[in-house]
Amino acid sequence: VTVGRIQAIRGTKDLLGDELARWRVMESRVRRVALRAGYEEIRTPLFEATDLSSRSIGTETDIVQKEMYTFDDRKGRSLTLRPEGTASVVRAYLENNVAREKAVAKFWYMGPMYRYERPQKGRYRQFHQFGTEVLGSEEAFHDAETIAIFNAILRGLGLTDLTARLGSVGDEACRPAYVEKLSAYFRDRAGDLSELSRERLERNPLRILDSKEKEDRVIVEDAPSILDNLCDGCAKHLDDVRRALDSASIPHERDDALVRGLDYYTRTVFEIHHEKLGAQSALGGGGRYDRLVKDLGGPPTPSVGFAAGMERIAGVAEELGIAWDEPREVRLYVAPLTAEAEAKVFPLVHRFRERWWAEGAPRSRNLKTMLKRAARFEPDLLVLIGEEELAAASVALKRLDTGEQKAVPENDLIEEIENFARETTGRSSKKE
Ligand code: AMP
Repeated sequence: VTVGRIQAIRGTKDLLGDELARWRVMESRVRRVALRAGYEEIRTPLFEATDLSSRSIGTETDIVQKEMYTFDDRKGRSLTLRPEGTASVVRAYLENNVAREKAVAKFWYMGPMYRYERPQKGRYRQFHQFGTEVLGSEEAFHDAETIAIFNAILRGLGLTDLTARLGSVGDEACRPAYVEKLSAYFRDRAGDLSELSRERLERNPLRILDSKEKEDRVIVEDAPSILDNLCDGCAKHLDDVRRALDSASIPHERDDALVRGLDYYTRTVFEIHHEKLGAQSALGGGGRYDRLVKDLGGPPTPSVGFAAGMERIAGVAEELGIAWDEPREVRLYVAPLTAEAEAKVFPLVHRFRERWWAEGAPRSRNLKTMLKRAARFEPDLLVLIGEEELAAASVALKRLDTGEQKAVPENDLIEEIENFARETTGRSSKKE
């Protein structure tokens, strides 16, 4: 027999307690901002055909080359745990004929993603993203809207000091010539590049721009910028997005070397960073993917979207000491002080739970023990039932904020608590 405890898989993480409470605030903020902007929720499967990832993200990317959780199912089909959300949304968009109903489709999503990366602070193998996708629009309006939504979610969570770094990866009209120019530049300096970058020179020279190696940084700094090599269409699009952001006073700055880790991007791209953080400062990013729908077998459908890392956002908030609180509901704790009063507990908590949070002790203990147990539930009101109360068909209701205690007839109890709820929360309770 094997004994011993089974542990969570490396790079995964349980969410519970106060940490999970913070996540719930983040989730409800995402939902509210997205719905207000006219985005509809979409939930796609966590695993897909492996081809979906390789054909969208790109066979030369780190994600496809070494980070996918790929396995054969029992019939030998190759499946992959989704490393990101966009490809699945596009697949679902095509499969459900969304374009027939909507010329421009707007979706938001949230959920776990899987990448076999080296786990470290802010980097997990199962992590969570939320994001939006606009399918069927080439308007800079929608790029600006995408950035604005991302920004509004973060601001609503108390994260200020944000900057949207705006760049472009060009398109098929201007990117090939730029890549050629960049390769020539790096080839001339190959001797001074890091080994990793020398490897990338042939396969994906754009990735060198993203290198963190010290010897590469000086070379990258003087490399030709794609922003000076854009075709008119890409340059105008980037300019239009800038202007739209300015018109709504959304801060942004030019980034000459914004490299996204996924190949499907075209034209304008962006990342949102938090100023106070260092290397892991990217909270998320996105951009246009005007060719992806067509590459996955659909009609030409220009699109734009973003994805944000939820562990990153929660981590930044924690580091900055920003508290996210859920709106508090009134909490009641029912404590029987004698064995005879025990039978009252269940019907009372059951009734209270139609409107408030309620917990109770099934067995009577002395008052001191009762209070200690109740404290874990952080109640606002204690409902105490002793011999006297039982005889009078009443309870002793104790407010823990003022310490005030009074006898309340059972028949008046709901009304009395409702008055307390209105006074302390400023709103009425709803019976559900
Ligand atoms: P990407 O889909 O690569 O553009 O990533 C978007 C965002 O997701 C990043 O800026 C991070 O905030 C987050 N992210 C990506 N990979 C991970 C990971 N392995 N662990 C935690 N967060 C991640």
